[in-house]
Amino acid sequence: MPRPSHLPVTATLMGAALTLTACGGVGDAARPDGDNGVIGIAMPTQSSERWINDGANMVAEFEDRGFGTDLQYAEDVVEDQVSQIENMITRGVDALVIASIDGEALGDVLDMAADGDIPVIAYDRLIMGSENVDYYATFDNFEVGVLQGRYIVDTLDLENEDGPFNIELFGGSPDDNNAYFFNDGAMSVLEPHIDDGVLEVRSGQTSMEQIATPRWDGAVAQSRMDNLLSANYSDEEVHAVLSPFDGISLGAIESLRAVGYGTDARPLPVVTGQDADLSSVRSIIAGEQTQTVFKDTRALAAQTVDMTEALLNDAEVPVNDTESYDNGAKVVPSYLLEPVSVDLDNYQEILVESGYYEESELE
Ligand code: BGC
Repeated sequence: MPRPSHLPVTATLMGAALTLTACGGVGDAARPDGDNGVIGIAMPTQSSERWINDGANMVAEFEDRGFGTDLQYAEDVVEDQVSQIENMITRGVDALVIASIDGEALGDVLDMAADGDIPVIAYDRLIMGSENVDYYATFDNFEVGVLQGRYIVDTLDLENEDGPFNIELFGGSPDDNNAYFFNDGAMSVLEPHIDDGVLEVRSGQTSMEQIATPRWDGAVAQSRMDNLLSANYSDEEVHAVLSPFDGISLGAIESLRAVGYGTDARPLPVVTGQDADLSSVRSIIAGEQTQTVFKDTRALAAQTVDMTEALLNDAEVPVNDTESYDNGAKVVPSYLLEPVSVDLDNYQEILVESGYYEESELE
C-alpha cells in the first residue's frame, strides 16, 4: 500500500509525542491520523534498545499500511503505562498493541478498552488475568531458554566432562510471564546436569523467588552477583552464568570483572543473554559476554501489523499456537516466531548480513 501523503507530518507529530512522553507528559500531543485508523502502541521502556526498535519498526510498518500510530513508552512505571493506555482509549484508537510492564496490572484498563470495542494485541509479553486480550504476538519463549541452557551445556561439554562446573542462575522480572517460560526452557536443559552433579549451583539459589530480577534491572543483577561471589566463591571459580537478558548479563560481568575475572589466567565464565542489544553484541565481540538470543524485532513488528490489520478487517488472524499461552482467564491465540542463538561465530551472518546492525555500529 502506498504511504499516505501526510506521512512527514505524522513523523513530526510522532517525534513530538515521543518527546512529551520522555519528559513524563502524557497525552497532549495531537494524534496522528491514518486513512485506515489509529493504533495505540504502549511500550515498556526505552532503557533497552530492543523496545526502541520494536516501537520504531511498528510505527514504520503501520504507517506503510495507512495507519496512524500513537506510540508511548512508560519507562517501567506501571501507573504511567496504565494512564497512557487510558488516554489512547479516550482518544478513540482503533486497536491497542501493548507490551506490558507488569502483566498483571492491566485488567481494569483492558475492561475500558473492551467497553469501547477496542481490540487488544499483547506484544511480546502476555497480559495476564484478563479476558480482553484478543491475540498475542511473540517469540517461542520456552525455546529462548532452551537456547541459553543448551549453549551452556555445549560450551562446557557437559555431556562428556565430569565437572563439577559451577553455575549461578538469574531469572527475569517476576511480573513478566515470559520470565517463567525462559527459566523453564533453560532448566529443562540444565536440570539433568545439576541432578547428576556435573553442574553445581554453589549458592543453592535455584527457585524463581530466589533468582528473579525485578524489572530486569542490570544493577540489581550486579549487586546480587556481588553477593553470590563473596558468599560462595572465595576459593572457587564460576564457570557459567545463566542470564535471561543482556542487561542482566552485563551487570553480572561487571561484578565478575570487579573481582578479577576477565584475564587470560582467570577467564570470564560462559554468560548467556537475550535481545542482541548493541552493548552486548559489542561485549561478545570483545570476548566478554559469550552468547545472546536474537529476536528479530522487524519480524515481530511485521507479524503484529499483519495480525492487527486482519483483526480490524474481520479477516482470519494468523496464529500458530492456540495452546501454550493461558493468561489465567483464557488461552490467548498466539503467533510464535523463532529465536536464534548468537555468539562470536555467527553474529556476522545473523546480525550484520541480515541488515539488523551495520558493521560500523559494532566497533
Ligand atoms: C522480553 C525480552 C527482554 C525482557 C527485558 C521480556 O519480556 O521478551 O526480550 O529481554 O523482557 O526487557
